Amino acid sequence: MDSALDKDLLAFRDEVRSFLDKNFDAEMRAATARSRTGFMTRELHVRWQKRLNEKGWMVPNWPTDQGGPGWSHAQRYIFDQEMALAGAPHPIAFGPRMLAPVLMKFGTEQQKRYHLPAILNSDIWWAQGYSEPGSGSDLASLQLRCDDAGDHFLLNGSKIWTSYAQFADWIFCLVRTDRSGKRQDGISFVLVDMKTPGVVVDPIITVDVPERGFQEVNQVFFTDVKVPKENLVGELNKGWTCAKYLLEFERGNPYSGGLKRSIGKIRKIAKTETNGGEPLIADPDFARRLAQAEMEIMAQEQTELRLFGRLKAGQNMGPESSLLKLRGTELQQMLTQLATDAVGYYMSPFNPYVPGRNAEIVGPDYADGVTAKNLNSRKTSIYAGSNEIQHNIMAKAILGL
Ligand SMILES: Cc1cc2nc3c(=O)[nH]c(=O)nc-3n(C[C@H](O)[C@H](O)[C@H](O)COP(=O)(O)OP(=O)(O)OC[C@H]3O[C@@H](n4cnc5c(N)ncnc54)[C@H](O)[C@@H]3O)c2cc1C
Repeated sequence: MDSALDKDLLAFRDEVRSFLDKNFDAEMRAATARSRTGFMTRELHVRWQKRLNEKGWMVPNWPTDQGGPGWSHAQRYIFDQEMALAGAPHPIAFGPRMLAPVLMKFGTEQQKRYHLPAILNSDIWWAQGYSEPGSGSDLASLQLRCDDAGDHFLLNGSKIWTSYAQFADWIFCLVRTDRSGKRQDGISFVLVDMKTPGVVVDPIITVDVPERGFQEVNQVFFTDVKVPKENLVGELNKGWTCAKYLLEFERGNPYSGGLKRSIGKIRKIAKTETNGGEPLIADPDFARRLAQAEMEIMAQEQTELRLFGRLKAGQNMGPESSLLKLRGTELQQMLTQLATDAVGYYMSPFNPYVPGRNAEIVGPDYADGVTAKNLNSRKTSIYAGSNEIQHNIMAKAILGL
């Protein structure tokens, strides 16, 4: 990549590196290095996002008149690569990457005026209320009741698998406002303040979660929750259009930077660990798996360059986002498994990250968190639409089958 960069782009890359050096501080680096998900704490994420915003780099995907930096495609790519190589997390996606484009396209002036600056400044933490028990892949079957109660709506039901809802100030929800016609035509998109009476967050404790409070997913219950009518986004019963538009932003992410960082770490582990007295890296089978992964990452990178190269700020990718999500997550899982195999029996101690925990770490530093990450990465082929669903979308929308 370096040889392809002109003088201005090299200067930009150095600016990004120096910003990351100074602002992605030691506390954040330690937290992400041990985290099974890349999640630090709410406090650290907000601190990090505010620093990005002060620099004008919080929302690379927004148009410039809304606060986006107006980067060229090459700058955006360099920024993503450098963030990934430093292990720095992107802003939590629910507000800036997912909801904001929907508000820009479908929101009222009042919704834009209130929510977009709050998202930019990380003053409001958003959660995504799409899935329900029984409605995941078949999202259009969702049932969360939203009844017209005169000057407000009334919500009853629940959302499930809601990531980090325990930290959220607001949640955007798909709700059922009509049952008479086609399922998609009775769905609306509403914004709910989590402090409204009747909203209850119940943690879901999964195999990789050490303690309550550090869970990744939750079930959120709504009992007679009053939602002001001005919190409806777009038209009543037309929420499916907003829902689909948002999903294209949810899936259209670059993966190659993070994959390259992961494979670099595996390479280092394989030079230290041994197999039958020889370094693991010299083991023909392991070397073959490593080379295979490297080739597939290069192919992913080329595909990302091609697809992102077509986009202007504020545009979404369209159904090709499914292609990136499918291959990107398959490769993530391939690498977390390779890392687990590389650390050998040090995979057994299970040291999930909990801020403030002082339990002794078993094994070398590089083995810390490897198993937790591997277990956690099983989720990536389920959330944001399972890989089977991505196959279906590509078959229909790209291949026209
Ligand atoms: C860690 C994590 C975080 C999440 N965070 C959020 C969140 O913040 N907000 C939110 O709203 N949701 C969230 N989700 C939910 C996620 O979007 C759903 O889990 C996902 O859409 C799958 O739905 P489901 O779990 O109901 O599985 P199901 O839809 O019941 O699928 C079960 C299996 O059947 C397969 N399948 C289903 N339909 C088809 C079909 N038509 N063709 C072929 N195969 C099919 C699936 O691929 C899967 O293997 C999260 C999920 C996870 C794991």
